Amino acid sequence: MFVLGIETSCDETAVAVYHANRGLIAHTLFSQIATHAEYGGVVPELASRDHIRKLVPLIKTVLAAADLQAKHINGIAYTAGPGLMGSLLVGAATARSLAWAWQIPAIAVHHMEGHLLAPMLEDTPPAFPFVALLISGGHTMLIEVQGIGNYRLLGESLDDAAGEAFDKTAKMLGLDYPGGPKLAELANQGHPRFKFPRPMTDRPGLDFSFSGLKTFTLNALNETGQSPQDKADIAFAFQQAVAETLTIKCRRAIQLTGLKTLVVAGGVSANREIRRQLSAMADSANIKIYFPRPDFCTDNGAMIAYAGGQRLIAGQTQNLEIFARPRWPMEQLPQL
Ligand code: ATP
Ligand code: MG
Ligand code: FE
Repeated sequence: MFVLGIETSCDETAVAVYHANRGLIAHTLFSQIATHAEYGGVVPELASRDHIRKLVPLIKTVLAAADLQAKHINGIAYTAGPGLMGSLLVGAATARSLAWAWQIPAIAVHHMEGHLLAPMLEDTPPAFPFVALLISGGHTMLIEVQGIGNYRLLGESLDDAAGEAFDKTAKMLGLDYPGGPKLAELANQGHPRFKFPRPMTDRPGLDFSFSGLKTFTLNALNETGQSPQDKADIAFAFQQAVAETLTIKCRRAIQLTGLKTLVVAGGVSANREIRRQLSAMADSANIKIYFPRPDFCTDNGAMIAYAGGQRLIAGQTQNLEIFARPRWPMEQLPQL
């Protein structure tokens, strides 16, 4: 079974083909970073217009790269939410129309289930059950995962998501959008100097709060002459605070659930220091840890083709509704 995956939830247009037995066949992506950079963030109307321009050409590119024709595709998986409504509608309407024309099923995929299952595309995939830490631009969640669609939320961010905190802090340090990866680079030049808090680690529970770190960034900036080295030291302190906070909460989630496997996914899981600290914790706790390859931490079509593919292979189908949900709790997903 060949599954075409379509991702258009935010500022990446991404397409992939996944095969039930052969795995990932081809994938491609166009990032709209250049379009939004001058505004310092994603402009929803520009995003949806660009998805319209890029999606069909990218589908053609992926089919050609996979050496496949439309008639070979057996199902379509598209991101139906959460995300920007206009952007989601481009993917959903295109996927539904193609499925109608090609007389094949299409399935709505939850973007965060896509992120969650991205490590399944690697050579040594994790086995259920596991604890998942999802850290992305819009979400920070700890989830107990018993299987596909069997999710129990253990904790989440009460304010800024981890990626959002990276991006906002980067902006305060004068870095261009999207600042997360740039802040990480700057932190490499930094030294231990400022002490930032590890929010909500001094009380029980698995929720997060990252918005308070902005105040510490601001105070540190005001204390210094804001030289490149000052900024690098602040970036270092911020990154350490986030990495250590995530690590403490993951250790706690592992202890609480008794599970032996940790899966970390979403854009922020590309961060080298966060990967390093979480891996060290996993080693010392004697548990297994899994990440997606760096390219599949951030948005991509492969994770959508995979997640939707699993549901299609299991025989799950949907009616012809163009399904798009800007907000969509993961617990509402059907179990596979
Ligand atoms: P969501 O998945 O919650 O809907 P999104 O799709 O915008 O949000 P992702 O594509 O998963 O988010 O990830 C993008 C986020 O990851 C951005 O906030 C970006 O700054 C952050 N990010 C990417 N690489 C790194 C890195 N190396 N270090 C820190 N943050 C990073
Ligand atoms: Mg993005
Ligand atoms: Fe995402």
